[in-house]
Amino acid sequence: MAIQAVRGTRDILPDEVGAWQRIEAAARDLFARYGYREVRTPVFEETELFARGIGAETDIVSKEMYTFADRDGGSLTLRPEATAGIVRAVIEHNLLNTDPALKVFAMGPMFRRERPQKGRYRQFHQVDVEAFGFTSPTVDAETIELALAYLDACGVRQHELVLNSVGDRHCRPAYVERLRQALRDVAPSMCADCQRRADTNPLRVLDCKVEADQATIDTLPRITDHLCEGCATHFAEVRRQLDLLGVPYRLSHRLVRGLDYYVRTTFEVTSDLLGAQSSVLGGGRYDGLVKDLGGPDAAGIGFAVGMERLALLLPPREVEPRCDVFLMPLAAAALDRALRLQRELRGAGLAAMLDPEGRSFKSRMKQADKLGARFVAILGDDEMARGVYTVRDMARSEQQDVPEEKILDHLKEKANG
Ligand code: ATP
Ligand code: MG
Repeated sequence: MAIQAVRGTRDILPDEVGAWQRIEAAARDLFARYGYREVRTPVFEETELFARGIGAETDIVSKEMYTFADRDGGSLTLRPEATAGIVRAVIEHNLLNTDPALKVFAMGPMFRRERPQKGRYRQFHQVDVEAFGFTSPTVDAETIELALAYLDACGVRQHELVLNSVGDRHCRPAYVERLRQALRDVAPSMCADCQRRADTNPLRVLDCKVEADQATIDTLPRITDHLCEGCATHFAEVRRQLDLLGVPYRLSHRLVRGLDYYVRTTFEVTSDLLGAQSSVLGGGRYDGLVKDLGGPDAAGIGFAVGMERLALLLPPREVEPRCDVFLMPLAAAALDRALRLQRELRGAGLAAMLDPEGRSFKSRMKQADKLGARFVAILGDDEMARGVYTVRDMARSEQQDVPEEKILDHLKEKANG
């Protein structure tokens, strides 16, 4: 039996790849306008980086990582997200020494052992944006505006931005304690996950999607009522600037996000077109992370877009033509001339193709159609005798004879014109 792709992985086939190239190109183009440069880090890292950088209690670290023993006994993990590896690289190469306000982006595969379903895979891809060294709420607003501008650049319109502040080391511990207290009374009536989280990670209770728990969750204390003055002021300014820029958002005190490192601003963009896996991108501020991982005390903020989900949201596009000139040497002696012309056309920057298998005229015309060929150049016995090519303009369904010595210039002009 033929071997199949591993469960939860998928192939991006040639018909789909155009959409991926467009979202990658849109990222490179747009992010550059905001001062971001690309960084590429390895897909595997020391396991400890993620344990420390994401948090041992998170779903990702506790049950989703692909961890394996290296042959020399070390423990390695396929990256489940990009931020920890980027922070590691920033520290390792002292990037903040030369550029204390560092803006980088990355794209590539991530790995999480989750239950595969539509929009959820075990190997998936993210576009990731990170800004280091900025504490100002202006950068929170800019980052959020950039996330939306990116969706916009990709042609994605139907979505909602959800915004929250999760406080910082000054105010969150007291809030979490308050939450834990409140949960002591109500958790026993909640779902099994919530009962467990009530003690280990009370914030995650706010993330619960179980219908029966929703009414209870509504009664729990809200972080936004317990922010310290610094966090409250910061959050108010983020909202004011988003209003100023005309960026619409919905506040949700329940948006705590899955990673332990977030402080202050957290945000997410969802789309109801995606069904159950509605989150397209998520992000937030992580001011303590660089220091926690052994670097300088530098602030950080960023977001990650799920590329599979983004690709699902792209507006449909007509198949792009991938052939300028399809050559049709019909006479046996025509092949050599066609091969030379094909090479010259390619050298002149045109996409030129021919079918060397000697299939019938009809089947070759079908191929030309499938490739979206703009021109077909036919060289049969009759054309050979007259020293011409019959050039067919496919869009116009027009045909004309072109003398062989003019064929290259003619096709170049037509194809570029
Ligand atoms: P979800 O709630 O859907 O599990 P998440 O909070 O785990 O998402 P993040 O860690 O914030 O997601 O990652 C950012 C984005 O990466 C998500 O918004 C989503 O678009 C995408 N993403 C996360 N996990 C997967 C996955 N297993 N398959 C495909 N895309 C994913
Ligand atoms: Mg998840």
